[in-house]
Amino acid sequence: MPELPEVETVRRGLQPVLEGATITRVEARRADLRFPFPEKFSQRLTGKTITALGRRAKYLTMDLDGGPVLICHLGMSGSFRLETADGSDMPGVFQHDRSKSANHDHVVFHVLSPVGARSRVIFNDPRRFGFMLFAEGPPDAHPMLAGLGVEPTGNTLDGALLASLMKGRRSPLKAALLDQRLIAGLGNIYVSEALWRASLSPLREAGTIAKPGKKAEAQSERLAEAIRSVISDAIAAGGSSLRDYMQTDGSLGYFQHSFAVYDREGEPCSKPGCSGHIERIVQSGRSTFYCRTCQR
Ligand SMILES: [Zn+2]
Repeated sequence: MPELPEVETVRRGLQPVLEGATITRVEARRADLRFPFPEKFSQRLTGKTITALGRRAKYLTMDLDGGPVLICHLGMSGSFRLETADGSDMPGVFQHDRSKSANHDHVVFHVLSPVGARSRVIFNDPRRFGFMLFAEGPPDAHPMLAGLGVEPTGNTLDGALLASLMKGRRSPLKAALLDQRLIAGLGNIYVSEALWRASLSPLREAGTIAKPGKKAEAQSERLAEAIRSVISDAIAAGGSSLRDYMQTDGSLGYFQHSFAVYDREGEPCSKPGCSGHIERIVQSGRSTFYCRTCQR
């Protein structure tokens, strides 16, 4: 499943082509993806100018001149392909291969740039768990986005805010970090990575990093910093791979190569001075990778 950094690299890849462009035609080749397309989907988009392409958690938001806002989710296997006069490109770096089969091209946006360049932005989704919906008002008030927690990017999430979110929680720290009502868009892979960077066990009670005193304060600071850096590093890696891809032969480096613990069961821990090994455990039905030697 694409995680927040992948969605952000998709946004950054599409933004130069979409922002300021006018939608001249939309082909919705099915009646539904995960949900039915909104009524008059194509008609309501046609002729509109895209004023901004944003992201909230793992949702892309396309602001249209005069409304509505198109909310788009990639689901399990969704991706965008960009076809311009210069060639084609698939923005974003994904762990899994993405389908290029035209059978799974479900939505095609035909757009015209302010300088008259025509492009096609194609949504491909073999498993069809992605979706596109309209928000008639502010997207944050839409049921899909209302109630989402803070973004794990930027400077919003600091130690004090993280501690206030975790305070009094008895659930394992990993489970609390995955709770989208607390922090939005932080997925399974990046939680494991952030906990390793912060030397905190995924099994400890979430509330322990919010106790009074310097020790817990340092832990929540360290974890907030680890979350922000693991996400920004992944976005930066996606950005650089995207540039490489556009310049060279299309071979993509995956984020996976830069994971310290994810999918590294049995390998030595790479933290300087640690002699432990990476273990895989299952929490709430999902894999957690961690080093019990340095993560306490
Ligand atoms: Zn270790």
